[in-house]
Amino acid sequence: MSAPQPNKIPVQQIDLDATKHRVHPRFVTGFYQNIRVISMYFFLALFLLLPWLRYDGRQAIWFDVPSQHYYIFGMTFLTQDFYFIAIFAIIAAFTLFMVTVYAGRVWCGYACPQTIWTHLYQHVEKWVIGDRNKRIKFDKSPMGPQKIFKRALIYFIWFIFSLITATTFVSYVSGTEFIYQSWQTIGFIPFPDWPTWIWVSVFIFTFATYANAGYMREQMCIQICPYGRFQSVMFDKDTLIVSYDYDRGEPRGPRKKGTHPDDLGDCIECQMCVQVCPTGIDIRDGLQVACIQCAACVDACNEIMDKVGYPRGLIRYTTERQLAEKEDTKVISKRFFAYLALLLVLCGGLIFALTDRVPLEIDIRRDRNQLSSLNQQGMIENSYVVKLTNKTQDEHTYKITLAPEDGLSLQLRFNDVPLAPGESFDMPVSIYGDPEVVEPGQTPVTLNVESEDGKYKVSKDNIFTTQGQL
Ligand code: SF4
Ligand code: SF4
Repeated sequence: MSAPQPNKIPVQQIDLDATKHRVHPRFVTGFYQNIRVISMYFFLALFLLLPWLRYDGRQAIWFDVPSQHYYIFGMTFLTQDFYFIAIFAIIAAFTLFMVTVYAGRVWCGYACPQTIWTHLYQHVEKWVIGDRNKRIKFDKSPMGPQKIFKRALIYFIWFIFSLITATTFVSYVSGTEFIYQSWQTIGFIPFPDWPTWIWVSVFIFTFATYANAGYMREQMCIQICPYGRFQSVMFDKDTLIVSYDYDRGEPRGPRKKGTHPDDLGDCIECQMCVQVCPTGIDIRDGLQVACIQCAACVDACNEIMDKVGYPRGLIRYTTERQLAEKEDTKVISKRFFAYLALLLVLCGGLIFALTDRVPLEIDIRRDRNQLSSLNQQGMIENSYVVKLTNKTQDEHTYKITLAPEDGLSLQLRFNDVPLAPGESFDMPVSIYGDPEVVEPGQTPVTLNVESEDGKYKVSKDNIFTTQGQL
């Protein structure tokens, strides 16, 4: 084995052969694995339960794509509000970037859906077949009735989990009531009564979940995930990484319990850190793209150190500055405050934009066929269609008025426009101009819309033209 650089943590490239054999990790317990399990099942429960949460009598988080209305805890967004999603995505990406710079791949190890679902699917294998050695033996054993039965049982449970994942995912779009309560009977058999797009979506997400968590597993992290690839350029000497203390551990070698030969380091070559690794790598080979920093090897090695009576931390969370240069990690720096300031500005901007927004939308479209016309009373007429959208959670009645302009008057088809929550209405509107008063050419006009309780008020500008008449 080649020695690492004296002042650098060795970095090894991973073998990208997709045909490599399946990894069967040994499940380990310990401080980090306890945190990991709590974190993973918290996010899993959040994903499964959020669509069932109700707010103001409606699904709290509901991306109703067919009607182009998106509801998030009482706020209604339309497609044109998607810049909020864009700002939110920028904040999420920047937060992930900042967390990666300081805490390394903590997202991969503790919260990534790929990690969570893979962990879950591997637990199914453990439950049906047994621990690591039994699973490896099972893989190598010849095909027989018992093997077929156990494999079929695993695939069936994986399929059920994938189906639950897919229907939950789609319920964020279709709504839980629709996806779980639409049934028909074909013969005597109850069958979901879904439109085609739900069938297709459920099929795609079931297949994707099954393939990712059951088949691809660690290969997703190693070969496909772009985050795993570009995180290495974000790392610096102060980034938290899971690392093996090469100076302390080498030369490695087996020994009798309770002894410590002078010519050996602290690594007893038990291979436990390799056996528990969900991506099947050896952390002692250095920092690798395939390491998702789950710290399973830290817990496994600490357990071994306890058993042989050596200090814990042969594999630990550390930084390159600490491990290789024996200096203190520098987290609080100018760069840290610059990141923090930018993040606070972005979050502040988003919160301000959300709290300042009026949940009432007005859009004015001119009649494109005819800019203006002369009516029987000799008044110049401009026609528009005013689209009103009630983005509140309650029914409201709105009134449209014209800001006072000399010689202009407004004619509406309806004086009051009652709108249900989330409802839109296209209202034909005419503005009349007295040719004796109105200036020839274009006059700016403002239409005001106000709810009956005066709570919501919006205005929109357009123009009144005399073109072709004066
Ligand atoms: S678990 Fe620790 S002692 Fe065992 S092989 Fe890995 S580094 Fe060495
Ligand atoms: S090397 Fe350690 S931290 Fe990295 S993925 Fe494997 S077990 Fe997890």
